[in-house]
Amino acid sequence: MTATIERFDQLDLQAPILAALAEIGYETPSPIQAACIPHLLAGHDILGEAQTGTGKTAAFALPALDQVDIHQRNPQVLVLTPTRELAIQVAEAFQRYASKMPGFHVLPIYGGQSMVVQLRQLQRGAHVVVGTPGRVMDHLERKSLNLDGLTTLVLDEADEMLRMGFIDDVEWILEHTPTARQTALFSATMPDAIRRVAHRYLRDPKEVKIKAATATVSTIRQRFLQIAGPHKLDALTRILEVEDDFDAAIVFVRTKTATVELAEKLEARGYAAACLNGDMTQQLRERVIEQLKNETLDIVVATDVAARGIDVPRVSHVINYDIPYDTEAYVHRIGRTGRAGRSGNAILFVAPRENHLLRQIERATKQPIEPLKLPSREAVADKRVAAFRQQVSEVLESEDLGFFLDVIAGIEEKHDASVHEIAAALAFLAQKDRPLQMPDTGKPDIAQLAAGKPDRPAREPRDNRSEILERRRDYAEGRLARYRIDVGREHMASPKDIVGAIANEAGIESRFIGQINLFEDYSTVELPADLSGDVLQILRRARVRQQPLNIRLASPEEASRERGGRGAPPKKPFRKEGGFDKPGGFKARKPKP
Ligand code: ADP
Ligand code: MG
Repeated sequence: MTATIERFDQLDLQAPILAALAEIGYETPSPIQAACIPHLLAGHDILGEAQTGTGKTAAFALPALDQVDIHQRNPQVLVLTPTRELAIQVAEAFQRYASKMPGFHVLPIYGGQSMVVQLRQLQRGAHVVVGTPGRVMDHLERKSLNLDGLTTLVLDEADEMLRMGFIDDVEWILEHTPTARQTALFSATMPDAIRRVAHRYLRDPKEVKIKAATATVSTIRQRFLQIAGPHKLDALTRILEVEDDFDAAIVFVRTKTATVELAEKLEARGYAAACLNGDMTQQLRERVIEQLKNETLDIVVATDVAARGIDVPRVSHVINYDIPYDTEAYVHRIGRTGRAGRSGNAILFVAPRENHLLRQIERATKQPIEPLKLPSREAVADKRVAAFRQQVSEVLESEDLGFFLDVIAGIEEKHDASVHEIAAALAFLAQKDRPLQMPDTGKPDIAQLAAGKPDRPAREPRDNRSEILERRRDYAEGRLARYRIDVGREHMASPKDIVGAIANEAGIESRFIGQINLFEDYSTVELPADLSGDVLQILRRARVRQQPLNIRLASPEEASRERGGRGAPPKKPFRKEGGFDKPGGFKARKPKP
């Protein structure tokens, strides 16, 4: 059934939602959207497993919006997300998808934001609330968030919430919302603990798992380039310039809008490029493909649907400018090259947060994708000079230059310039449109920016040892202070839970969270000495394992106790290895009526 959904208007969504999607430029529902939206519209619960970047937000947001009663100002939809960044991001997505629904309100609520502001916003009313578990719980307890009218509850990135130690809070919230609600749970992985939650709180859920596996063609050389969004265009043009066997390319992007924009940018840089998307008439699309065949065009920027089945043998390169949602799409895309027995090239741009998709594609296709080394500015310049030399020598060999020799002799006489100087001036004129040198913009070369290792794109790995020493110094010099929190071993708390709660609720970056010492019924934690009153206020109410932190400066005795210290805080504070599964960590609960 889902396989036949290729356009959003095949889904039974209200006209304003479809209009918003058309404006955003989404052309076709992603697999998770095609699979989930019909079920959610039909009122079923959903247990969805899909990696990040597969379009889960719209998968739950569109059907949720479809059911919103705009005249009802009590929250009808609640989305729980593990972090405040995600809460904001999801709220923004709702806003975009609802841009044609006048009067619609979505409210993100998360720790670290002023309570006063939040209370006022809640009072004003919102159709959809997106929040982190701790803050949502807080508002439910204060009765500032009334969920009596709730029809839909979404748990986004459930495994992440588990890892960060929020699952007890999530269950508490599940128990304090109307049982008649529809529930959708999304997770990139399905650890047992999440399955248990789903089993307990979801009603006969439809299970949707987006996986993919298909083979690729071995005559296609597959490479990837680690590159952040803003540098993609430069990287693309550089690749087009230096690839030896380049003839024609299909560049894949995610939206119709992006096809138009990128094709225009490439045209502006002198490439014979055009877009190909589902908005174009069949006739126009055919013309583009014809032009690609007859070499009027060299580059076509396309969406998945529009490019499906294109068979143009001269396509030497497929560029995955935006990473595809799933392996299947990847395989379809790269199958546009290496046709008719030729060899082909597939190049995949991977943004820093998309490494898991890269690995997923490699796993599913059972083929390693090799890193592409972007040539430096100098290498590009060398290549241009070599091509120029080649052109000059061809002209010297094959053209009759008599008339031009006279012209040059005239210049030589009049300007008292050497033939070398004149030739250099002509070379300068000849390369004006496509300079032989790469301009030094003063910015770092994208070849360097793109050279990051796939596993650690964003930040240089920090030396653990020097990090600890640095923190010792900060402590000694009074930049860090030791605080006491009322949660300890007996509450089954781990340092990762604590870091997670502090980072998330107070918005303190984990690198500013120092040593954590766990004791029986309390812990001490190093934090910046100059925490503001607001932040302390938030942290007093923040919880770990249901326990309010009640944070305050540690007494000198508490501060000097080192027993039970864990040394450095975890590098990645949010990776908590299933504390939920520890005996006693999982509280027995009443089954849902
Ligand atoms: P996930 O929640 O699975 O990580 P998101 O919902 O954040 O994924 O979507 C990832 C990106 O894909 C976003 O930039 C979003 O705008 C885009 N996107 C989602 N659905 C579509 C679609 N049907 N067509 C094109 N782009 C889409
Ligand atoms: Mg998401």
